[in-house]
Amino acid sequence: MNSSISERIVHIRSLLPSSVRLIAVSKTVPAEVIRIAYAAGIRDFGESRVQEAARKQAELQDLSDITWHFIGHLQSNKAKKALEQFQWIHSVDNLQLAQRLNQLAHQLGVSPQICLQVKILPDLNKSGWSVPELLADLPVLNQYKNLQIQGLMTIPPLGIDEAATLKVFNTTRELAKTIGDQNWSHIDIQHLSMGMSGDYQLAVQAGTTMVRLGTILFGERS
Ligand SMILES: *Cc1c(COP(=O)(O)O)cnc(C)c1O
Repeated sequence: MNSSISERIVHIRSLLPSSVRLIAVSKTVPAEVIRIAYAAGIRDFGESRVQEAARKQAELQDLSDITWHFIGHLQSNKAKKALEQFQWIHSVDNLQLAQRLNQLAHQLGVSPQICLQVKILPDLNKSGWSVPELLADLPVLNQYKNLQIQGLMTIPPLGIDEAATLKVFNTTRELAKTIGDQNWSHIDIQHLSMGMSGDYQLAVQAGTTMVRLGTILFGERS
């Protein structure tokens, strides 16, 4: 079991271009298994619940070079804790949350790395900006100087086929380029957070820079 997690990590790492950052999604995974992944070379871990992450982070304090990535829906009453515990927040999905994070980041003296979550296709099950909404909000986001807005994050709707999934990822990359071409002073999109266990190869094909992989590394979550 333990060696198989290490083997899977080494194998998946070998399939990814070296420029792609592998974020091991460790939600529901106990701290001792996170240690195994760490020993296999993982330094980026993704969690989707602030509370659950806090417990594990306390147990793993000795692994001081881990970068923690928050990837779940963030409620604004958890925003402060998220900023205290995570260097990256991939799932900033609306302007009110961004504003709150900017304000809290100022108070806490931190400057979190941020991905803006976009919905390329309509999806009632997910939060995030539609493309026109995001483009309209950029002038305000550009004023949030305590946030390092560095990426776009997307999750394709469940159940679409490979061609449609690839198109979602390609459109996200093109959107990042469009935003980059607008030369904002405080928004510098260099990262794409796209690709989970079922679709990461398509995300790599589309030029993602970060994949968020859980099941394929750690097995099915119960
Ligand atoms: C759970 C989760 C993942 C990992 O999903 P797998 O299919 O297990 O790889 C990636 N991104 C987000 C936002 C998640 O919530």
